[in-house]
Amino acid sequence: MQTHILGYPRIGSNRELKKACEQYWSGKITLQQLQTVSKNITTQNWKLQKEAGIDLVPCNDFSFYDQVLDMSLVVGAIPKRYHEVAVKSNSEMDLYFAMARGYQKDGLDITAMEMTKWFDTNYHYIVPEFYKNQEFKLFSNKIINEFEGAKQAGVKAKPVIIGLVSYLLLGKEKEEGFDKLDLAKNLLPVYIEILKDLEARGAEWIQFDEPFLVLDLNEKAKETFQFVYKELRKQFPHLKILVATYFDGLKDNLSLAVSLPVCALHIDLVRNPEQLDEVLNAVPENLSLSLGVVDGRNIWKNDFETSLNFIKKAIDKIGTDSVLIAPSCSLLHSPCDLDLETNLDSEIKNWLAFAKQKVDEVVMLKELANGNAIEKSEENQKAIASRKTSKLIHNEQVKQRVNSVTEKDAQRENEFSIRKTKQQKVLNLPLFPTTTIGSFPQTTEVRSWRAKFKKGELNAQQYDTLLKEETEKTIRWQEEIGIDVLVHGEFERNDMVEYFGEQLNGFVFTKNGWVQSYGSRCVKPPIIFGDVSRPNPMTVYWSKYAQSLTEKWVKGMLTGPVTILQWSFVRNDQPRSETCKQIALAIRDEVSDLENAGIKIIQIDEPAIREGLPLRKVDWQNYLKWAVESFRIASTGVKDSTQIHTHMCYSEFNDIIQNIADMDADVITIECSRSQMELLDAFAEFKYPNEIGPGVYEIHSPRVPSKEEMVELLRKAEAVIPANQIWVNPDCGLKTRHWDETRKALEAMVAASKEATIAY
Ligand code: GLN
Ligand code: ZN
Repeated sequence: MQTHILGYPRIGSNRELKKACEQYWSGKITLQQLQTVSKNITTQNWKLQKEAGIDLVPCNDFSFYDQVLDMSLVVGAIPKRYHEVAVKSNSEMDLYFAMARGYQKDGLDITAMEMTKWFDTNYHYIVPEFYKNQEFKLFSNKIINEFEGAKQAGVKAKPVIIGLVSYLLLGKEKEEGFDKLDLAKNLLPVYIEILKDLEARGAEWIQFDEPFLVLDLNEKAKETFQFVYKELRKQFPHLKILVATYFDGLKDNLSLAVSLPVCALHIDLVRNPEQLDEVLNAVPENLSLSLGVVDGRNIWKNDFETSLNFIKKAIDKIGTDSVLIAPSCSLLHSPCDLDLETNLDSEIKNWLAFAKQKVDEVVMLKELANGNAIEKSEENQKAIASRKTSKLIHNEQVKQRVNSVTEKDAQRENEFSIRKTKQQKVLNLPLFPTTTIGSFPQTTEVRSWRAKFKKGELNAQQYDTLLKEETEKTIRWQEEIGIDVLVHGEFERNDMVEYFGEQLNGFVFTKNGWVQSYGSRCVKPPIIFGDVSRPNPMTVYWSKYAQSLTEKWVKGMLTGPVTILQWSFVRNDQPRSETCKQIALAIRDEVSDLENAGIKIIQIDEPAIREGLPLRKVDWQNYLKWAVESFRIASTGVKDSTQIHTHMCYSEFNDIIQNIADMDADVITIECSRSQMELLDAFAEFKYPNEIGPGVYEIHSPRVPSKEEMVELLRKAEAVIPANQIWVNPDCGLKTRHWDETRKALEAMVAASKEATIAY
């Protein structure tokens, strides 16, 4: 029996990588200094896992930005528009970051590659771009370098590589007339070249991540899986290839998965424990099974009893030697180290495990399965039992309120067309009204105030005054440049979920529980451990203050229930739908309080609705039903004349447009610019009746858009959506941007809206 890890967090337990990357981007440290940081992180990770007793320690799970982008660089899938960056900068790293973030230097002005969610997680990857007959060639030595790096640290590592088929399926065809899977034949030689090199350097195990094996697959994809792994087997009869699946069960792809001529198959028994029996019955004799029993996506302590039952069942059926024990997926999605949490309530802390602790759990499970260390099992069972009965968790009133929600509680007074007229009367907005998504730059200064306030170096009043000044400046500035619907800027918020969680009962916070979201951006998801309720208003103070400063409308700004759920670590002792409705009721109360405080426009952000979709289509409607209902519970307790906005990022809505319409927000703002308004087509075809703000510029990079390009996008929008339904706004919030570029971009945006209006 062997233990292994599918991937370890790479940000460093104190976010060293984030800090180093950002310093490198702003020219404060050199490439060499950046590389030193990465070397320290990887070396620490390898040693930690090895010393804990993990048999197969992963390498190539590190990345400066994203592992999919790494792969694109490795196989030379570099879109033409970046070739000049390579020439001008003469640096692989700068080329890499240009692909990730865009490039505005040396007389070049190139947009970043598209980014999208990694399956149903809040991690984002850079989407590979594919062309007809595309040729690949080994471009970056990253995989080999990491394998050698691990060797130097005394670890013969297991390289983790995105499987060929999943890599292709993650990408996007950038021209017509071919299927990305056609490229498998061209890509395979590069994979073979890499494996040859790794084998020659002594690699024994290779992990290919093929998460697409848990998704709905067409015939062509299935054939490609067969083709690729047969070829690899032919070339490498001695390499131990492990194919890793995660985030759902194999289900109808089971026979395909077990037929691949590889050494081991990893399955996710946290997401889909039901699959174990079926898989065990189907596993052929020479295929080992890696049991993903420790939850890589959540922070709860493993229940050893449950895991051991799985492990024993597997051992009985296929024998000890054919069993591997592992977390369910890469620990990329877990925070690094629970030991750093010195402020957590000790009762709650005893229910948790982060990446480092999960590594120990994996090792412990092997020990226990071998009949050793029984006392560890008793300790574990005590912790599990204490969570089931703890008074911290259960609140009867909350449970009852959720049970008594009726359909009427989830419905506006009148349909949209009636509301639209009433809202127009009150709000009196122009054609192509401009607004922003909510946050304005969280400068180092703003963040330093919060840090000082937390440390006690600023008292509450001083902190409040500073925030008020910043808010007022922002309001004045928005007035000056002529934005129609203002926002207060969200300076008081650290993060759009954390801010609410901190004020709700049932949540707990970590000091250092960071998880990578995209590139250098990390989030610190709250932990929902108990029934959720709202002891006090959460945002009324700031919205009311901001509104008091101006004659223009200021949007109230809330995070929606599905997003709060989706971006938190959620309790696993009741259905997610139940927890979501509890949050929805808390938000509903907040919406009412805002309305009563005179706020006429209230935005309830739901950027995470789509990422919450189950990976298999058959499971969608069930999820969407409670997700949409939760949004409606949160948003419908207002008068017709109060305008409800919602906002979503990276959303491809084609297949769920009916559900988006069912949410019935008066205005929805969406990310659209990177797709050149393509994402609007779904709304157009559906004849979506409510108002829409398709983002007219990209906010993930510092690049300043021109007025002309935004006018161009608006023209595209009005070609498919009636003009009186269109709002003008950026793709998303501006908290990660600097003021300088924000000012220029929004001035140009207002000018673009004016120009678009002239046509009417
Ligand atoms: N209101 C949030 C902001 O502007 C929305 C962020 C998001 O959608 N991710 O930051
Ligand atoms: Zn957004």
